[in-house]
Amino acid sequence: MENDLLARLIDAEQLYQNAPCGYFSLSADGKIIKINLTLLNWLGYEEKELLGQKFASLLTKGGQMHFEMFFWPVASISKAVKEFSYEILRKDGSLIAVLLNASALLDEHGKLQAINAVLTNTTERKNYEKEILHSKRVAESEKKRLQFMADLVPEIIWTTTAKGNIDYVNARFCQYFNCNGEDTRSSFVLSKVHKDDLRELLKVWYRSIATGEHLQKEIRLLNREGIYEWHLLKSALFLDEEGNMTNWFGSCANINDHINALKKKDEFISIASHELKTPITSLKAVLQLLDRLKNDPSNKMVPGLIEKANRNVDKVNALVEDLLNASQMNQGQLHLNKSMFNLAGLISDCVHHVRIDQRYEIIIEGDIILQVFADEGRIEQVIANFITNAIKYAPDSKQIFINLKNAGANVLIEVVDKGPGIAEEKIPHLFDRYYQVENKGSKYSGLGLGLFICAEIVKRHGGEIGARSTLGEGSVFWFSLPTS
Ligand code: ADP
Repeated sequence: MENDLLARLIDAEQLYQNAPCGYFSLSADGKIIKINLTLLNWLGYEEKELLGQKFASLLTKGGQMHFEMFFWPVASISKAVKEFSYEILRKDGSLIAVLLNASALLDEHGKLQAINAVLTNTTERKNYEKEILHSKRVAESEKKRLQFMADLVPEIIWTTTAKGNIDYVNARFCQYFNCNGEDTRSSFVLSKVHKDDLRELLKVWYRSIATGEHLQKEIRLLNREGIYEWHLLKSALFLDEEGNMTNWFGSCANINDHINALKKKDEFISIASHELKTPITSLKAVLQLLDRLKNDPSNKMVPGLIEKANRNVDKVNALVEDLLNASQMNQGQLHLNKSMFNLAGLISDCVHHVRIDQRYEIIIEGDIILQVFADEGRIEQVIANFITNAIKYAPDSKQIFINLKNAGANVLIEVVDKGPGIAEEKIPHLFDRYYQVENKGSKYSGLGLGLFICAEIVKRHGGEIGARSTLGEGSVFWFSLPTS
């Protein structure tokens, strides 16, 4: 009984049939003469369906060629074949991947009698490898997609390791700092930070590394032209699924224009307050004097004081008008009320309205019969501004010429003075908002809005505006208007 059990336990046939590998034997002409159950199960065939079949017929086309051309000759000569990789067709048409090891049985003359083969099923491993490969490809293409995106944005972008060493930079980074992607040691980047911002930056940076808090700071960075520009630096810690610190993501948005605009605004507010304060202080002084004289209205100082008060009120009025006009233009609220009128007539009226000292002579030249279809009030504003500027900024030019020219579909109006002129590099900025050639401690009052308003008026009419000037010789301020 015991022997029976033992015999059953070590039943070689049982082991052969149910082993975790596929076993089969081939005759000298490659036909299956024995095959175990495991392999039959893998393939989904009955034993009788495969016995007598050529093993090669179970292989894919490529596998068949390999089997005939390599496996069979090698097996016949070298007796043993190790780990040939094949795919075998199941009965249902699907494939299993296997590794084939085989040994050849030869007779005493070395002639092949049969082949015993063992198959290991590698389908799962193959699928796993395929999955890994696929995931790798997906990760690669995702990385490329993110890099493409990062290269497209106008911000400087980088990532660092958890310890703060830079391990990725985008195209804008290289372009801004004029470096290649490799030259990105932390010291390189820190050398680009303005020295006045560096201490504070390092302080918040170390605090962020210690606490994991996001970082946000305005700093100046040196660009490839050697100019510092304001940037908004943002940096955030990236945690993986287990909550480990893996990377810092950082970006720098260029906010230089924004910061400069704010600075300009502050500067402008200070200029505007100063400009308004001067006539108001003077007006106050005049009123105090008039107050003292209120019981003596026939005092000979009174008319002069009233005249002075009026001049100061006019100044305040002109400044406030400029401010209102500029804000109107800014909001695109300039409405034109057009009519047909004679330009020379308008200019004569205008010269009359502008309070001009007897010392100055305004000479109108050119085509005095020219007519235009435009907003008379606004065009008068432009000409008045050119004339008052000529008197204000070229006080020694006693003659001011106004030329009227017919230029086909346009008329051209030029105001010419023989004053000090304007440096060439300043000319392109003359029509910018708040621009003054000499703004700090200037002896002239003004807000740098006059020419900006003129330009807006002319542009709204579909015309052009400009200036030419030679230092020491004078300036020509001109504008053109379509005739209809
Ligand atoms: P503001 O209202 O302060 O006078 P504008 O916009 O009218 O400003 O003029 C801008 C700048 O252009 C002035 O600061 C002045 O320096 C310069 N400018 C204007 N007209 C003349 C001129 N005829 N000659 C020299 N400089 C001029």
